[in-house]
Amino acid sequence: MSSNTSSPNTVDSPTQTEPDSALAVARRQLRRAAAFVDIDPNTVERLEDPSAVHEVTVPIERDDGTVETYTGYRAQHNSVRGPHKGGLRFHPDVTREESIGLSMWMTWKCAVMDLPFGGAKGGIVVDPKDLSTDEKERLTRRFTEELRDVIGPNTDIPAPDMGTDAQTMAWIMDAYSMQEGETQPGVVTGKPPVIGGSYGRDEAPGRSVAIATRQALDYYDKPLDEATVAVQGFGSVGANAARLLDDWGADVVAVSDVNGAIYDPDGLDIEAIPTHEEEPEAVTKQDGELITNDELLELDVDVLAPCAIGNAITEENVNGIRADIIVEGANGPTTFAADTVLADRDIPVIPDILANAGGVTVSYFEWLQDINRRSWSLEKVNSELNAEMEKAWAAVEDAYEHHPDATWRDAAYVVALERLSKAHDARGLWP
Ligand code: GLU
Repeated sequence: MSSNTSSPNTVDSPTQTEPDSALAVARRQLRRAAAFVDIDPNTVERLEDPSAVHEVTVPIERDDGTVETYTGYRAQHNSVRGPHKGGLRFHPDVTREESIGLSMWMTWKCAVMDLPFGGAKGGIVVDPKDLSTDEKERLTRRFTEELRDVIGPNTDIPAPDMGTDAQTMAWIMDAYSMQEGETQPGVVTGKPPVIGGSYGRDEAPGRSVAIATRQALDYYDKPLDEATVAVQGFGSVGANAARLLDDWGADVVAVSDVNGAIYDPDGLDIEAIPTHEEEPEAVTKQDGELITNDELLELDVDVLAPCAIGNAITEENVNGIRADIIVEGANGPTTFAADTVLADRDIPVIPDILANAGGVTVSYFEWLQDINRRSWSLEKVNSELNAEMEKAWAAVEDAYEHHPDATWRDAAYVVALERLSKAHDARGLWP
């Protein structure tokens, strides 16, 4: 393993009481990485805060005739390189702070991939499992109306995230288009292909996790077909990553969902396991030794891919980790404190802003297809995604090699911050 481990002096040292909100983690990561880059401190200060956060109330009529009011957010972090871009979550843990932190990660993600977008994120504080399909549709349409003045194909383009999907995007596109008086497919990405969505968009985040894993194994001279992989989470990201890595010859030895994990040291029959979308929470019903999600994180594997939730790897469990490489499929699965321990233990972490960036990259392809009113084949999408991932990997690898004290996350931030810094310098401050 590499010796890129130490932390720059400018970093706040993490403490036992470190808050682990996405915003706190994102800010600490920014300050740590900024020490590696020749960047105007005023630009860093600006990047610590979003350009706007919209908070709306979203009332809907429930199926029983009562009215319920939900809270929704849209955090728009930075648009110096292009329109704001990022997902919408329907989840009980959505907060203003989480939306801001996640919107910051979208800014870096788009910059690492060199996409002409800035960062945004938002959502509604709701458990979608508590709503009928009709209620979800009413909630989505009303949320769209509340945000109509601040989203649009050239200003802020939402996409799916936790608890939302292609159908949610179709409702947003319809609600927005009806009010604008013209069909505007480019207002969202991750739509069904029949209304301007891109082939390969659903699988794209998992595909990029698989590509990042392939690149990382190659960097550390470990043949893919001899590698063992454990995947936490078998939703869209985890399942697609596991299936592709299995296809490419790796042994996926463990996968999990909310109920627990299954493990087979000789490799699981991945194709036989239904994804969360195909059959919710089916993982633990499959063949294999039943283990807990915590035990999965501690398996002695070549690659551990946390693809489920934020803050999965923390100060509490980081010392149990025995994987050689971590590839982040979820957004923010490693706390800042855990990251520091992993760096000290010489365990490379391929960061979310590179590893799961396939989603927003194919969102960009979708947006281009919408502008041109011309759809790409699945083969074209996958081959362009592969090319973009290899290009981004090369840029991050270059930064990693040039900064002996940088982690892979720092290196990805260096690439992003250099691009953002140049864009801020070129545009200047107005007035
Ligand atoms: N929600 C996805 C992410 O976190 C995709 C965002 C997008 O496609 O705009 O990267």
